[in-house]
Amino acid sequence: MSIHPHVLIEGLSKRYGDGPSVLHGLDLEVSAGEFVSLIGPSGCGKSTILKLIAGLNPVTAGRLLVRGQAPEVARDRMAFIFQEPTLLPWLTVIRNIEILLRIRKVPRNRCLKIADGMLALVRLNHVRNHYPRQLSGGMKMRVSIARALSLLPELLLLDEPFGALDEMTRDHLNEELLDLRKDQNWTALFVTHSVREAVFLSNRIVVLAANPGRIHEVVEVPLTYPRTNETRDSNAYLRVVSEVSHVLRSVEGQ
Ligand code: ADP
Ligand code: MG
Repeated sequence: MSIHPHVLIEGLSKRYGDGPSVLHGLDLEVSAGEFVSLIGPSGCGKSTILKLIAGLNPVTAGRLLVRGQAPEVARDRMAFIFQEPTLLPWLTVIRNIEILLRIRKVPRNRCLKIADGMLALVRLNHVRNHYPRQLSGGMKMRVSIARALSLLPELLLLDEPFGALDEMTRDHLNEELLDLRKDQNWTALFVTHSVREAVFLSNRIVVLAANPGRIHEVVEVPLTYPRTNETRDSNAYLRVVSEVSHVLRSVEGQ
């Protein structure tokens, strides 16, 4: 057990070059095992927050620690999932899943073993040797999730992963994502534009305001896990969706 929060952000500010402040005075603590969503108007700095946590970009001022360490040091134990599945078109599904392990020079047999395990977890055994062009959007996203989880990450950074999918596929993938978390207890930071999705998945929802990006309000989601399709019909769920929508409308009107 670590005494550090999984992610600690204190007084964080970010500017790109000598441009304006993109983020200003951000404070946020995420505990190990928490699922936290970030929601807010386009351009408020959601993707920037994930990139800073991943150590892909330096902070301008303030503190950002992952398990008490600088992000670049902690990067090996994180995985990133983007809206675009970014699969390699010339590789089959199984080869796409194992690619990150291969890059990390994990022995060949072990790569395949882990990749096959992940393939089963996302229920794609039947398309193991297919190419990306033969898959639906939802299936491509499952491959992308399997590839990220093959790294056995402690921290998963997801940037609008289901934004391009239809609502039914998105609902399914939301349920699957929570199912996957039962076996691999990663912490999640999840960027979305969908209030329904944020409420369904999260312990907490951080609502950001723009110009400069800052935290407007943090909403707790008082729903227990596991969450299922019935969760979406419950009054408690609908109440939080309405509360977050209200907060979001107030920041979008600013
Ligand atoms: P969001 O994900 O909430 O839509 P971003 O984090 O992508 O917001 O962007 C926040 C702001 O930072 C925007 O104004 C965007 O134009 C700017 N920005 C993002 N990345 C860069 C970059 N690499 N260089 C310069 N400005 C950037
Ligand atoms: Mg973004």
